[in-house]
Amino acid sequence: MATRIADASDPEAIREAARIIRRGGLVAFPTETVYGLGADALDPLAVARIFAVKGRPRLDPLIVHVAGAAEASSYGIFPGPAHGLMQRFWPGPLTLVVKKAPAVPDIVTAGLETVALRVPSHPAALALIRAADRAIAAPSANPFGYVSPTEASHVAAQLGGAVDLILDGGPSSVGVESTILSLDGEVPALLRAGGITLEALTALLGTVEIATDPGAKPQAPGQMKRHYATRTPLEITDAGGPAAGERVGLLSLGPEDARGYAAVEILSPTGDLGEGAARFFGALRRLDGMALDRILARPFPETGLGRALMDRLRRAASR
Ligand code: AMP
Ligand code: MG
Repeated sequence: MATRIADASDPEAIREAARIIRRGGLVAFPTETVYGLGADALDPLAVARIFAVKGRPRLDPLIVHVAGAAEASSYGIFPGPAHGLMQRFWPGPLTLVVKKAPAVPDIVTAGLETVALRVPSHPAALALIRAADRAIAAPSANPFGYVSPTEASHVAAQLGGAVDLILDGGPSSVGVESTILSLDGEVPALLRAGGITLEALTALLGTVEIATDPGAKPQAPGQMKRHYATRTPLEITDAGGPAAGERVGLLSLGPEDARGYAAVEILSPTGDLGEGAARFFGALRRLDGMALDRILARPFPETGLGRALMDRLRRAASR
């Protein structure tokens, strides 16, 4: 049976979603980054369903979503530098990895001694966490490895029938996943580029170690080389176009010569990275739905949000 999609701005829908979470069910819900597939973080059976529905390997730990910094301190042990970060960037797209509190089940952290915590800023996400009165473990609401969902319709297309309710809160405003910063070592370490820029973190912290290369250190078991991937082969190139008889799609941040392409996605007419990020995954999905031979993606500038976008593109292009 198709899963019902409820309007996230309807308080009754939030109450229903909260009841589902409290009895161990799964709710897909909007966040400012991407749509999440949520379950009660302290209920190992409910969390196990997340892994099953996504086809996600159990060694890939989940982010725990909480309503505020005070709630976060029940699940993790926050060192000094965390406080400035929480004050500056929460609620928002920054996930902090810290030593876990005993309450957090092993299935959530994939057996690690650390836990990833975040306070989302989307009002419906916060309303759900508060109404459920639970910490909510949630990865992106898509099959493991595929393009992330930034609209309720993306979730319905792929996980409809497998989850108990989908909350529709409109398109995700940031559009890429949270930045993951580990505070478990001597120096704060960037584990995943995301919605909060490295520049913003460095301005606050001074030094940030960059540990986003999947080959570098197995700090984040979820740093899979191939991820966020279209079924259509994707190539990153700043030159080149379609060969004769070939159906090729083009993905570009700013305006591009569209001649010869079967489909073109220009993410932002002004080349704005914020607008580009918000439209990125939706554009990839549209191109992937067109039975193209190939998708060509123009590289993003690797500053600000461009870092997160290039990270997603590289993983999507990896075979
Ligand atoms: P997703 O929810 O799919 O956006 O992925 C969450 C990501 O958070 C995982 O793939 C991991 O890379 C990362 N993560 C979660 N928990 C931890 C942790 N305890 N230590 C390091 N990375 C983590
Ligand atoms: Mg994901």
